[in-house]
Amino acid sequence: MRAVRLLDWGREPVLGEVGRPVPREGEVLVEVEAAGLCHSDLHVIDAAPGALPYRPPFTLGHEVAGRVATGSDAGERVVVHGPWGCGDCPRCAVGRDNLCDRRGELGWHGVGLGRDGGMAEYLLVPSARHLVPIGDLSAEQAAPLSDAGLTSYAAVAGVRHALGEDTTAVVIGVGGLGHLAVQILRATTASRVLAVDIREEALALAQRSGAHEGTLLRADTARVLRAAAGGVGADAVLDFVGNDATVGLAVDVLRPGGELVLVGSGGGRLTVRKPGVLPPGFRLSLPFWGSRPELGEVVALARSGALHVETERFPLSEAAEAFGRLRRGEVRGRAVLVP
Ligand code: NAD
Ligand code: ZN
Ligand code: ZN
Repeated sequence: MRAVRLLDWGREPVLGEVGRPVPREGEVLVEVEAAGLCHSDLHVIDAAPGALPYRPPFTLGHEVAGRVATGSDAGERVVVHGPWGCGDCPRCAVGRDNLCDRRGELGWHGVGLGRDGGMAEYLLVPSARHLVPIGDLSAEQAAPLSDAGLTSYAAVAGVRHALGEDTTAVVIGVGGLGHLAVQILRATTASRVLAVDIREEALALAQRSGAHEGTLLRADTARVLRAAAGGVGADAVLDFVGNDATVGLAVDVLRPGGELVLVGSGGGRLTVRKPGVLPPGFRLSLPFWGSRPELGEVVALARSGALHVETERFPLSEAAEAFGRLRRGEVRGRAVLVP
């Protein structure tokens, strides 16, 4: 079968031929219908040797939806909960594989992250417990829900308590994750939602997603955002970029007691010191993906019509073009590969 393979660190992935996996006892074969491209795939491709607890070669693709091909559930349409934990610890027992206690010993971070992923015709899933039914949702919609949707959902869930009436949430980076974060904030909180990006096109997407205002990142953005947040500053900032500039902006914009949710892996630094520049009561969270029950909630939200993923579809044979567009910052919403 055809598969998009990462053959070595620092090399662009290539479309190759590999054997179709044969499931053993307890494993499930899924016929892939769609696989999303995530900015994290670029961080993985570009990783320095030894920086991650796994190594190439493997097939990329950690946002996967398709049809069960084997076993008693054959034919069922599913999305794959991607962080594959040990399966035995108290976290995995309740579907929180994303925070598995044995994460450091596994040798992978999940599907397409050290284990063969879903940018292929078939995907081998180690256990049926990683599958969430999608009903009549299209695979192109469902696949991005498993990371872009789920991670954004978990990020918002962590700060929902702070986003009642007369509050402000700021979303930095309105790409695959950010445009869904805007929709989830609108669907599940009462906050005013402000969006920041470096691309006009992304701000238009933020507006279509329900943001109240959007602003380009500039020298005076902190002032503009504070004014838009009633002069007092934001209650929460969700940073889907995470570089020095955006983390600094977040700290400048948060009001006392404000929450920074750092999702983007842009390598930005934050100095924690008392006394220091962080506002009093400042809280920081570092979500990694989300739990399987939360993925069920995201799927339900999408099926209710509250979430719509903007996608750009590419056949598997055009994976290189899709990765090129992602790298150049040209994707609107989420790029999705269809075998
Ligand atoms: P994306 O490429 O689809 O979107 C990124 C967006 O940020 C784009 O709209 C881009 O224009 C904008 N942007 C870039 N630089 C900016 C800046 N300096 N200021 C404002 N906006 C800027 O990326 P994505 O797939 O949505 O992923 C976003 C980040 O989240 C990546 O770093 C990714 O690795 C990370 N991520 C983390 C998790 C997690 O579990 N913590 C999960 C998925 C992705
Ligand atoms: Zn991802
Ligand atoms: Zn575990």
